[in-house]
Amino acid sequence: MEITKLTPRGFCKGVVNAIHIINKALENNTYKKPIYMLGNIVHNKNVVEAFKSKGIIILDGESRVEMLKKINEGTVIFTAHGVSDAVRNIATMKGLDIVDATCKDVKKTHDVIKEKLLEGYLLLFYGKENHPETEGIIGISDEIILITDKTDLSTLPKYSGKIIITNQTTMSFLDVIKIYNKLKEIYPQLELVDEICNATRRRQEAVINAEGYDLIIVVGDKLSNNTKMLKELASNKTKAIQVETLNDLKNIDLSNFNKIAITAGASTPKSILEEIVFNLEHNTNNYISRLNLDDYLKG
Ligand code: SF4
Repeated sequence: MEITKLTPRGFCKGVVNAIHIINKALENNTYKKPIYMLGNIVHNKNVVEAFKSKGIIILDGESRVEMLKKINEGTVIFTAHGVSDAVRNIATMKGLDIVDATCKDVKKTHDVIKEKLLEGYLLLFYGKENHPETEGIIGISDEIILITDKTDLSTLPKYSGKIIITNQTTMSFLDVIKIYNKLKEIYPQLELVDEICNATRRRQEAVINAEGYDLIIVVGDKLSNNTKMLKELASNKTKAIQVETLNDLKNIDLSNFNKIAITAGASTPKSILEEIVFNLEHNTNNYISRLNLDDYLKG
C-alpha cells in the first residue's frame, strides 16, 4: 500500500493564529475569569476538548446572541469564524473582556460586504445555513439574502439595480462559480466577489489535481465545512472516505487499495493525520493511538 500526503493539509494559518491568540490569553492573568468561548473555536472536537482541559468554558446555543445571554462576567473569546457587530456590542455592553480570534480572511469578507452595502448594492451571500461564519455575515444587515443551494434561486426577488454575490470562505470554489453562473441568468448585471480563502482553495485544488489514486482519505470533523467540501471533491475523483481520527479507520478494510492519497481539512490537527499515516504504514492490522490533548493544538 502506497500512501501519499497531499499538500497543503491540516491547520490553516487562520486556525494556527486563533490557537496562538487563545493560548496567549490563557497565559495573561489580567483577563477576567471565567473565560468563555462563543461556540467551538473550530469544528474539531479534539481541539475543543484540548481547550476545555485548559479551563475554557465552551458556550452552546442557537446563536451567538443566545450564547451571550448565558453569561454576565468574565472574558469571552470570539472564534475564528467571526461575529457580527451586534454580538460584539452586546459583549462590550455586558462589560466582558474580549479575545478576538477571528480569522483575517473572515474579517476581510465582513469589510467587503459592509463596503458594498454602503455603495448601494443588493447583497447575496452563498453560505451554509446555521454555520457560525454565515451567522456573523447575516448579522451585518437584514438586507443580505442568504443562498444555501440552487433551490433558493427560485424565490429571489426581481431586481435591476446593482447586485453582488459573495460567499462563505470555506465553500467549494467550483460551486461558487456554478451558483454565480445560474444567478447570471436571473440578474445579468450580477457581480461576483469570490471570498474563498486561500487555504480552502489550495486544499481543494490539491484534491482536484490528485490523479491515479484508488482511495482518498479525508481527515476532519463531520461538522467542518471545508472538510465536507474536500470529501465531495474527492468523491468526484475516486472512492473517498472521511474519518475524524484513527479510531474511525479501525473497522474499514483497506486491503484492496494500493494507492491511497490522504488530506485533511483546515481545522484538522496535523498530529491526527500523521498518526493515521504512521499506522497505515507500520501497524496495518493493529492501529495504536498515542496522541494526548496537547498534541491536538500543534499546527
Ligand atoms: S479556513 Fe480560511 S477563513 Fe477559515 S480560519 Fe482557515 S484561513 Fe481563515
